[in-house]
Amino acid sequence: MDWKYRTIIEPFKIKSVEPLGFTTQEERKEVLRKADYNLFKIPADKVLIDLLTDSGTGAMSAEQWACIMRGDESYAGARSFYVFEKTIKDLTGYKEVIPTHQGRAAERILFSIVGGKDKIFLSNSHFDTTRANVEATGATAIDLPIKEALDFEKKLDFKGNMDLSALEDYLKGSNSKNIVMVILTVTNNSLGGQPVSMKNIREVSKLCKKYNTALFIDAARFAENSYFIKLKEEGYSNKTPREIAKEMFSYADGCLMSAKKDAIVNIGGFFAMKNSEWAKQAREIEILGEGFPTYGGLAGRDLEAIAQGLIEVLDEEYLNYRIMSVSYLGDGLRKHGVPIVEPPGGHAVYVNAKKFLSHIPPEAFPAQALACELYLEAGIRSCEIGSLMFGKNNNGKFIPAPMELVRLAVPRRVYTQSHIDFVVEVFEHLAKKKDRIQGLRIVEASPTLGHFTAKLIPV
Ligand SMILES: *Cc1c(COP(=O)(O)O)cnc(C)c1O
Repeated sequence: MDWKYRTIIEPFKIKSVEPLGFTTQEERKEVLRKADYNLFKIPADKVLIDLLTDSGTGAMSAEQWACIMRGDESYAGARSFYVFEKTIKDLTGYKEVIPTHQGRAAERILFSIVGGKDKIFLSNSHFDTTRANVEATGATAIDLPIKEALDFEKKLDFKGNMDLSALEDYLKGSNSKNIVMVILTVTNNSLGGQPVSMKNIREVSKLCKKYNTALFIDAARFAENSYFIKLKEEGYSNKTPREIAKEMFSYADGCLMSAKKDAIVNIGGFFAMKNSEWAKQAREIEILGEGFPTYGGLAGRDLEAIAQGLIEVLDEEYLNYRIMSVSYLGDGLRKHGVPIVEPPGGHAVYVNAKKFLSHIPPEAFPAQALACELYLEAGIRSCEIGSLMFGKNNNGKFIPAPMELVRLAVPRRVYTQSHIDFVVEVFEHLAKKKDRIQGLRIVEASPTLGHFTAKLIPV
């Protein structure tokens, strides 16, 4: 539709509603203490606005709920599987399509085939579960983002890009025979949800072909990335998001997908590829853990809803609302002097806690301290992406992460503009008393993906 108005509206009306979790400050204080200052351990009904993640938290459409009723629950060869398979084949062009219960199951299966001791994976940035699954096979995961990606204030259209010269150095370097795969994460979740340009995807693909390495796309947010290309990259403004997505997939050998993101479902994933030999091995492993390859840990109804979501997510009105509502949150925070990763990403705004709470050193987890304060102040749940998630302990010596961020991830089609206005107002309030916010200290943590279970206390 042609739109001559300034106001961008939510492109849906609401058919079913859920109450929010209103609490008192006294209650939240107690909840936070009981949760060991780890927001993953807070019961969701004690959360008012939940910006912990955009993963599996989206609202399905009426049509997707209709898919839930239509789903065929046959054990093998369900009709819903063929709907799912065809949708993904048409979108990606990859002939081998394997469903999984979520993205990390696809990672685990694929990397158990191509990974192993001494093997090397290169990426613009591995997502945390991607890295963990690479490392679990004994392989090494190396991130090669462009230098500007770590300059949080720099406004650049495609800060998710991979550093091409660093990539080529690795591909022709002394360990090149151990490099089995390049993974392009679109959008780049770990570094601010920043998009990757088509030019960068094309160039990475060329290098992979030249040095005979596989290229996979971690496609969790492929539609958001496609829309950024449409908005910002020369030559794409007249293309549909679907045409752009198809072109992106055409440069790679396969993809990994968490359907909990851009397929707008509450659970699900898949991987798809050209290589039939890998697919054959993958299906054997799939049966051991996920289930028969035509359902892969999902119900037929889930497969059907994923297929529908993959179509809806490429709708231009939806994508415009999506990208604009996240940047609206960024605009609001900026207005109150809250330092954010610029520009706002596709699914989240990342607050730079290192800068906002400069009085808290990395070893006292400034981003986690801010996330806890946001909850305490107004019941808003966010996610730390900093030293709690990525910091290392090297024989008792603390090695901080390169960034201390609080991610405000926006669930798809769930919150309205007034919810976002409220979040901005809370930050306005926090900005005035930020000097009084205190750091935290870890009392217990497990070695892999420890941030999910860590226990902390205020310093
Ligand atoms: C969420 C995500 C994953 C993992 O998917 P799950 O469905 O959470 O297992 C992998 N890569 C990226 C970029 C993600 O955002």
